[in-house]
This record gives sequence, C-alpha cells and structure tokens, in this order.
Amino acid sequence: MVPSLTMFVQEFGRVNRLLAAALGAHGYYLYLNVSSFLTLWARCMRQRKPEVRSRQHRDLMKALSVIVTPTECYHTAVEREFECPLTFVDRGRCPNLCPYCTGAYKDFAGTVNRTELVGALTSSIFDRGQVAAMKLVSFINDEKNSGKLRRSIWGKKTIKTGQVHGLVLMLFAAEIIEPTFKEGVSAGRNNHRLKDIDVRLVKKTFQRDGSSYEVFALNDPNAWSAFQLNSDNN
Ligand SMILES: [Zn+2]
Repeated sequence: MVPSLTMFVQEFGRVNRLLAAALGAHGYYLYLNVSSFLTLWARCMRQRKPEVRSRQHRDLMKALSVIVTPTECYHTAVEREFECPLTFVDRGRCPNLCPYCTGAYKDFAGTVNRTELVGALTSSIFDRGQVAAMKLVSFINDEKNSGKLRRSIWGKKTIKTGQVHGLVLMLFAAEIIEPTFKEGVSAGRNNHRLKDIDVRLVKKTFQRDGSSYEVFALNDPNAWSAFQLNSDNN
C-alpha cells in the first residue's frame, strides 16, 4: 500500500523512466492487504498535531479509493490529481495498462451479494459494536463455521484469499467501515500496535425537519456504487 498518491506517482514513475522499453514491457505492481493499510492508518494517527494527522489521513484515504474503488483510468485519476485544474485536459484512458482499463479491478473483491454482506456485517460481525481489526478477515472467512459467511457473501464458488482483503479494503475506501482505536488508546502517541485498532461501521448524520438522525453508511445504496454486485441486488 502507499500512504498517498504522491508516493504512488513517485514509485510508478520509475517504470521505464528512459522510455526505452516497449509500452507495457515493464510494470509497477502494488501489493496491498488489510494490515498494510492499517499500519499506514496507525502511522497517520501517531502524528501529534491534529492538522498533520488529518492531512495524512485524507491523503491515505484518497490513495486507497483511487486504487481499490477506481472510477476511471488510474493514469487519468493521477493526472487529474496533480495537474492544474484550470488547464487539465482528459487525454483519454491508457491502452489497457492499468487495472481499471483491463477490468482487473472487478476482481479485487469479485462479485458479492449486497443483501448477504449487509446482513453479515450487521448481524454477525458488528452485532456487538466494534471488532478487532486484525480479526476482520478471519470473521468474514468464517472457517469456524466451514466458511458459512464467506459462502453467503460470494455464493457457492471458491474465492481467492486476497479477495477477502480486497473486500475489506473496498469497505474502508467506501467509508462503510472505519478503523478506530480501542478504548483507552488515543491518537497522537508513538506506541500504537495493530492490536490497538478496532473496526466499526460508519455512521452518518443527516438533518430532517430540524432534527438530526444517525444512519449506518451501509444502508445508503450510493455507498455501494464501486462494488461488483450480483444480479439479486440490481
Ligand atoms: Zn488505464
């Protein structure tokens, strides 16, 4: 995982810097999993100054969403981010060199059943509030019950191990779930460990008729726009 789009551009800019190789002959591969994301999240939270903390957090979440829930060619997304908005021109998508243009991004989590996933998150995983972040992947895998939850989310087919990580990262990027510290642990300290991090469902507040209401972000259909959902949900 990368902490920001600036680092992302820095790293993939090293590929074929001399422009001597054929297009696509060399590549930049980014490997991400839940713990690499949480490690970077904890690193942001370690910052003592709240403004530095929130800037780093914003950069991390922006990079995560461009990478795991892309809505356009990665190259275009990066150009849009770094070029002057007044002179930016969309040069069109790349020739099938990024996961968005090849369609590989659809495989990050694969196709899931939203109803089953929402049910699993609300009734089985977060039914008692927050859970230890490092246990989330194994809760979804549900080996203890011979993979019952996993099968309900993805259907009967077998999935790649990485797709559980892919799904969790997409849930973070879509702000359906969020990391938080366990009780008694606070931001701005140096000694955070992964076991100090919990995950919870994101709650959104909205106003209606002068009163404010709280709803879980997962109940908003728009929160799921980046996911590949099976036909039962369409
Ligand atoms: Zn592309």
